[in-house]
Amino acid sequence: MTHARQVIIIGSGPAGLTAALYASRANLSPLVIEGIEAGGQLMLTTMVENWPGFRDGIMGPDLMTELRAQALRFGAEIVQGDVASIDLSERPFRLRVGDDTYTADALILATGASARWLELGVDRQLSGRGVSTCATCDGFFFRGRRVAVVGGGDTALEEAIYLSKLASDVVLVHRRAELRGSKVMQDKVKALPNIRFVWNAEVVGINDVAKGEVTSMVLRDTLSGATTEEPIDGIFIAIGHTPNTRLVQGQVDLLDNGYIRTHHGSRTSVPGVFAAGDVQDHVYRQAVTAAGSGCMAAIDAERFLSGTGH
Ligand code: NDP
Repeated sequence: MTHARQVIIIGSGPAGLTAALYASRANLSPLVIEGIEAGGQLMLTTMVENWPGFRDGIMGPDLMTELRAQALRFGAEIVQGDVASIDLSERPFRLRVGDDTYTADALILATGASARWLELGVDRQLSGRGVSTCATCDGFFFRGRRVAVVGGGDTALEEAIYLSKLASDVVLVHRRAELRGSKVMQDKVKALPNIRFVWNAEVVGINDVAKGEVTSMVLRDTLSGATTEEPIDGIFIAIGHTPNTRLVQGQVDLLDNGYIRTHHGSRTSVPGVFAAGDVQDHVYRQAVTAAGSGCMAAIDAERFLSGTGH
């Protein structure tokens, strides 16, 4: 079946839902298509302390529940489904979702970014069996056990803090001797007695695939090249994210680092296609900046539609 819509938004994180809120209030009856990571990265966090207006913080999933309800209240429609393909070669744009085809006069890409893996092969093989990219999802399984966190950014620090409350020991493995994460998070981590740092080290192996569980990690000292094996029960990878651009590759301009190139607000290289949130932001990557860019995309889409006579 073919469904025609004025505005389709792909993605339901802060960018997608804020775009939906603004587009619905502009009477554009937007359709939001949310994939398997519905709600985006905030669904995987605990307390968000830097969303303006909540002086005591708000839980990430609660914030997304509110944002979703707010978008629905003004008439946005949200459907679940994996977009199989997008054709941007002519307007209206065409999207295939399962057996359905959707057409859109304007499209907002808010597909976000997904956690990066070490790409050792074994890390993916042991995913869900001791290797994880989400402490709040899987930390519970490691109560009283030894875990490692890989990375030196805010995500790694946040994961380490969360895990320190559950695990007996947390080893934070970073490839340099200086953390990338913010000073406030660094201070928090350094004050926790059961978090230990391993500096200048890369994880080059994880055992034991044959057993189907994590028993140890192999570390390589980046200065000396020496390798050591350290027993652990779980390993959390927090080394950044990759933008989810698979659907539009070859159709909209991307930056060298793979993020969607935007100009004059949220415009992409294809007129009528706008991008918001982490899929186009490799600099700020905050929930609040994602929401702000979602607002911009909805306003840009509304102006584009008025300008093209819709
Ligand atoms: P970042 O890109 O900031 O950090 C990634 C970290 O992983 C870096 O320390 C990097 O090392 C390391 N790394 C990257 N690739 C590899 C690899 N192949 N092997 C080993 N280590 C690797 O990503 P984050 O996800 O931490 O943060 C993203 C953004 O989200 C940031 O802007 C951050 O401030 C924000 N954020 C904010 C939070 C908050 O305010 N509460 C919570 C979480 C995230 P190197 O330093 O050497 O490059």
